[in-house]
Amino acid sequence: MEQLIIILAVVVVVVGGGGTTLLVRTRARHRLTRAPDRTALRGGTTAAASAAPDLAEGGSAPPDVVVSPAHPPGPSAPEVEKPPPSAGRLVRLRGRLARSQSALGGVLLGLLSRDRLDDETWDEIEETLITADMGVTPARQLVEELRTEVKVAGTRDAEEVRSLLRAQLVVQVGVDLDRTLHTTRHGDRPAIVLVVGVNGTGKTSVCGKLARALIGDGESVLLGAADTFRAAAADQLQTWGERVGAQVVRAGRDGADPASVAFDAVNQGIERGVDVVIVDTAGRLHTKAGLMDELGKIKRVISRHATVDEVLLVLDATTGQNGLRQARVFAEAVDVTGIVLTKLDGTAKGGIVVAVQRELGVPVKLVGLGEGPDDLAPFEPDAFVDAIVGG
Ligand code: GDP
Repeated sequence: MEQLIIILAVVVVVVGGGGTTLLVRTRARHRLTRAPDRTALRGGTTAAASAAPDLAEGGSAPPDVVVSPAHPPGPSAPEVEKPPPSAGRLVRLRGRLARSQSALGGVLLGLLSRDRLDDETWDEIEETLITADMGVTPARQLVEELRTEVKVAGTRDAEEVRSLLRAQLVVQVGVDLDRTLHTTRHGDRPAIVLVVGVNGTGKTSVCGKLARALIGDGESVLLGAADTFRAAAADQLQTWGERVGAQVVRAGRDGADPASVAFDAVNQGIERGVDVVIVDTAGRLHTKAGLMDELGKIKRVISRHATVDEVLLVLDATTGQNGLRQARVFAEAVDVTGIVLTKLDGTAKGGIVVAVQRELGVPVKLVGLGEGPDDLAPFEPDAFVDAIVGG
């Protein structure tokens, strides 16, 4: 068989220039089939990459991919878990949210309960909000509105002041924003969710946790490991997939084209009739042009066969202004449809929710509140504000 492949490849080169690409492809496949140990190690099957036309642009051949089985064989294979549904998770995680955010509410309510609410006190309230990463303009707006409300109400009753503060915080967080996660399949096509963000923000965990949550809600999910620069990311994704019985499409060789893996993930998703394909992307901090190129190509290639329903930008809530700068770069590179704010359990500066939504004009759709597999929750403004001011 090997001989046949080599002969075939040579014949193609001799026959014409157009055969060069085929030769490279044949070699790529040949190499993979000669490394069965690697495939077996992952418990996967190889799938020849479909020829994404875009890939020919750069002259590079599409790499083969590995499709890991949803249920790996062998006695040591982990039990497939049955994750809980996603509804009401923020309420379940309220304690954790309150632990990280109630200090902010405590300081604000402390200031509001002073004997005299003079200019200095209002300045301190504004400063507290700015220090909590809310941003200068929203902090100022909130203070102005609250000041008027307190004056009009003519009350200093602690409960009433708390409810006025609560109402103003809710306004800034935004109750009217559409936070729906668009994961409904389109006829025979799966919904596609692209997950972007800088390495370390929790991007790969978000892909895994989101897959779990969707499976808990009764959807079927396939994961695409298009972060081909970090083998560890693909391994991590595979572990997440195996736990809940989701297949993972990953590169069959190092340095493969991320767009090719994304393309194959979508094709596999269509072939296998899954509801949602979640694609993890590379999060190297590189130039805006490089980022635009890479994400643009991934989107373009996917769009040949399916609609990208969500582009979720993962941001680490503990990184403050730095995180906002990153968000700006990503938003310029790709049309972000929702923000996933991770590590909200590790910061008292919950004001970042307001700042990032304002900065990008895109709602926070999910929040991360811990390292546990079910610590990703749909964002609910009311539950969030209750955690700050005490519900
Ligand atoms: P990536 O490099 O962006 O793909 O990040 P990873 O998914 O590998 O996550 C980086 C680290 O952040 C891991 O240790 C995660 O467990 C941790 N992490 C992710 N989300 C959260 C979260 O919401 N809260 C906490 N405390 N840790 C998180």
